[in-house]
Amino acid sequence: MIILLFGPPGCGKGTQAAFLVDRFQIPAISTGEMFRAECKAGTELGKMASAIMAAGGLVTDDITNGIVANRISQADCARGFLLDGYPRTVPQARNFANLARDKGLSAPIVIHIDVPEEPLVARLTARRQCPQCLRIYNLLSQPPRVPGVCDGDGAALIARADDQEAVIRQRLAAYENLTGPVLKWYGEAAVRKVDGGMTPAAVSRAIEQAVLAATNAAAV
Ligand code: AMP
Repeated sequence: MIILLFGPPGCGKGTQAAFLVDRFQIPAISTGEMFRAECKAGTELGKMASAIMAAGGLVTDDITNGIVANRISQADCARGFLLDGYPRTVPQARNFANLARDKGLSAPIVIHIDVPEEPLVARLTARRQCPQCLRIYNLLSQPPRVPGVCDGDGAALIARADDQEAVIRQRLAAYENLTGPVLKWYGEAAVRKVDGGMTPAAVSRAIEQAVLAATNAAAV
């Protein structure tokens, strides 16, 4: 099972990816998390990615395609995987289709979590993350038990550099300009659209239904 999870920054992709990992027992691969890990480790790739990410831009297709190809060839991806944040451009989508064909993988299940811009800006400026365990909080909807502190390990929560409002608007514009055509490339019939304005649990149920419907359709 291959799930491609689409949706603008702040639509709840991370939360829903965690749900799908648990429900379908497949690893979630987030290109954003992979790039952040490279930044934290201070690698050459990380140094380059951090400047691009802080400015709200996209890392080049070649680098991104390479990091994904490498990751999905690892043993834990043999039964399938979920991609969060990839493909983000039409060349990445084409590259992934070729890679999937060469590896004989099943057709991807394409899920699009849809949320309008203004609620997203409000959600993202309220987002905090634990720098240790990477758990995400939201001061509006999922605050930590003690303000400013991770429930799990007590580390001081941080706002990501790319969660500042000006950067957020740039990221939303980049998402619209680049990923809109990616969804068009997959085609309306292939993209399963879910209303991301519902509660996280309701969004999970809608995504689960969409995945099961796609799996059943493929089995017929
Ligand atoms: P995310 O956590 O998915 O919002 O990603 C954070 C940042 O990582 C993005 O703003 C980009 O700079 C970079 N990034 C993540 N995924 C991709 C991708 N598929 N292509 C290019 N850049 C990416």
